[in-house]
Amino acid sequence: MDIQFLGTGAGQPSKARNVSSLALKLLDEINEVWLFDCGEGTQNRILETTIRPRKVSKIFITHLHGDHIFGLPGFLSSRAFQANEEQTDLEIYGPQGIKSFVLTSLRVSGSRLPYRIHFHEFDQDSLGKILETDKFTVYAEELDHTIFCVGYRVMQKDLEGTLDAEKLKAAGVPFGPLFGKIKNGQDVVLEDGTEIKAADYISAPRPGKIITILGDTRKTNASVRLAVNADVLVHESTYGKGDEKIARNHGHSTNMQAAQVAAEAGAKRLLLNHISARFLSKDISQLKKDAASVFENVHVVKDLEEVEL
Ligand SMILES: [Zn+2]
Repeated sequence: MDIQFLGTGAGQPSKARNVSSLALKLLDEINEVWLFDCGEGTQNRILETTIRPRKVSKIFITHLHGDHIFGLPGFLSSRAFQANEEQTDLEIYGPQGIKSFVLTSLRVSGSRLPYRIHFHEFDQDSLGKILETDKFTVYAEELDHTIFCVGYRVMQKDLEGTLDAEKLKAAGVPFGPLFGKIKNGQDVVLEDGTEIKAADYISAPRPGKIITILGDTRKTNASVRLAVNADVLVHESTYGKGDEKIARNHGHSTNMQAAQVAAEAGAKRLLLNHISARFLSKDISQLKKDAASVFENVHVVKDLEEVEL
């Protein structure tokens, strides 16, 4: 499982940073890629990665500001031009209005897609658990921005323990149906009377990962709730230390506030994105250094950077 950042800039693209988008690559887990936001030019960034657009099965939108959604019509249209590849359906989750934006763009431009899009729109009153599959649950909660904006908490379900086949063989269990029974947690008795306790041969379940990806926001308790015990928190850092007032006025956060959220939530790791083009590379090291005084395990991400979870 890893996150690849496709756009880490705030508001408008710069040479170094495109507008918002990131890919949560779940290839080993479910052979899918989930996109979070899709700013203009996201499809161009994808060309520089190994991500195949057809593998993108779900897109989660945090809010309807242009730098987070203007890449959708282009990405969706290009996704249709995958020669000789099966056309798979796509799910889009986002605030009310996202469906109308996408369908209007496609209709006005005469674009017809050979696959179906299923929209899951929500508003203030329909948040909470927005998706549950056999391997993941996704929650959304409202943040505090200048328009309705959400953050997402992606929770992987605990991973089942694995069967220690070598140990079973060593204990004299013949390979075959008995393996299946033991794997299902059933104790068995061998022909020679040996009792085999399933628990001795199955490793303990491993806790699933928690990934928190926030949209644009002022510092708010909702961010902390979404990030409780997260393995990784992706938080915007539009402003730097000392700019708390201006950040508040514009509906954004500073690096220090992001670090406070990570610390309060007990997150393990903080990745800062949504970085203003005003920041030069020396400012980026300062952003990190200042934030690290509040939360040590912090990193300012770059476009195309891949972070393993
Ligand atoms: Zn915004």
